[in-house]
Amino acid sequence: QYNFCAGPAALPTPVLERARDEMLDYRGLGLSPMEMSHRSADFVAIAERAEADLRELLAVPDNYRVLFFQGGATLQFSMLPMNLLGNGGRANFVQTGIWSTKALAEAQNLGAAWHVAANTEPEGNVAVPRPNELDISDDAAYLHYAANETIGGLAFDYVPRGRRADGAEVPVVCDMSSSLLSGPLDVSQFGIIYAGAQKNIGPAGLTLVIVRDDLLDQAQAAMPGLFRYDAMARAGSMINTPPTYAWYLAGLVFEWLKDDVGGLAAMDAINQRKANRLYAAIDQSEFYANPIAPLNRSRMNVPFTLADSRLDGEFLKEADAAGLLNLKGHRSVGGMRASLYNAVPEAAVDALTAFMADFEQRKG
Ligand code: PLP
Repeated sequence: QYNFCAGPAALPTPVLERARDEMLDYRGLGLSPMEMSHRSADFVAIAERAEADLRELLAVPDNYRVLFFQGGATLQFSMLPMNLLGNGGRANFVQTGIWSTKALAEAQNLGAAWHVAANTEPEGNVAVPRPNELDISDDAAYLHYAANETIGGLAFDYVPRGRRADGAEVPVVCDMSSSLLSGPLDVSQFGIIYAGAQKNIGPAGLTLVIVRDDLLDQAQAAMPGLFRYDAMARAGSMINTPPTYAWYLAGLVFEWLKDDVGGLAAMDAINQRKANRLYAAIDQSEFYANPIAPLNRSRMNVPFTLADSRLDGEFLKEADAAGLLNLKGHRSVGGMRASLYNAVPEAAVDALTAFMADFEQRKG
């Protein structure tokens, strides 16, 4: 069976097998990783190894902190304005779909100062704005965008950037919930990268935030201590009890990426092949369609529609019976969506495209 779920997503089978083997007794300690004190030397070693492996995979520069939060990417939508607008200025937003728009809505909820640098909603969010279409304000405290819109299947092909009135580079803040670790990345282009774990990182319950040191002193004075990046960085992400088991599992995923896959360049090549194969199958058929501009098609989330939406139910039922799970599109867009995260093997795409061709032949 293959799981095409958008999130929580499939985890690599070797990771689940190792977790199973270590579940009751971690390396002869007589404890499950779930039962360890987060302050114990054994758990601290797990936590530090996970961070070191992530830093190695992404080549995170020394002037960035890696923080392990709870609360999902959604809590970051609120924490970002709280942590970055303390010295004034406006949060700038690029709206390209549901998630980047939710990030703006949370800033508005807080009464934060905001500005929309671009919004592709009127054109249906089928292409990201080109660099010359970004209207970044002179007083931008940061520029927020979503690298990959998980629901729309829309991905940036470049890193947006801009300058303030004083000539300084605007810190770029990126929601990478559904694209982090899908390939190599130049972290130094970003002020903050954040991601909910439940796609390419590990199980739900953990949120990664990679923050540049110079952004740690811009928080509002009055806010919950747990929400402060600077306090979390000082405490090694352990102000309180962190999500220890999710952190441990993320560490296993990082080891799998390093040792089994061979790093993010290797992962990138696999992901590119998977996406190419599925988009080719969609494009060469009259029966299936994807509306996104080729340059901005997501490699991670591939939404597609059938020529006759009355066949959607049948498609899903047959796919399920064939072991192709969770292909139903998001309720806001309908149709189908195949999420091709790291743990989805190339054979899954072959099975899906073969099923699609067969279904089209019989019903198209
Ligand atoms: N941002 C993106 C791009 C997402 O795909 C999601 C969830 O799917 C979120 C944010 C929200 O994440 P969470 O459920 O961890 O709050």
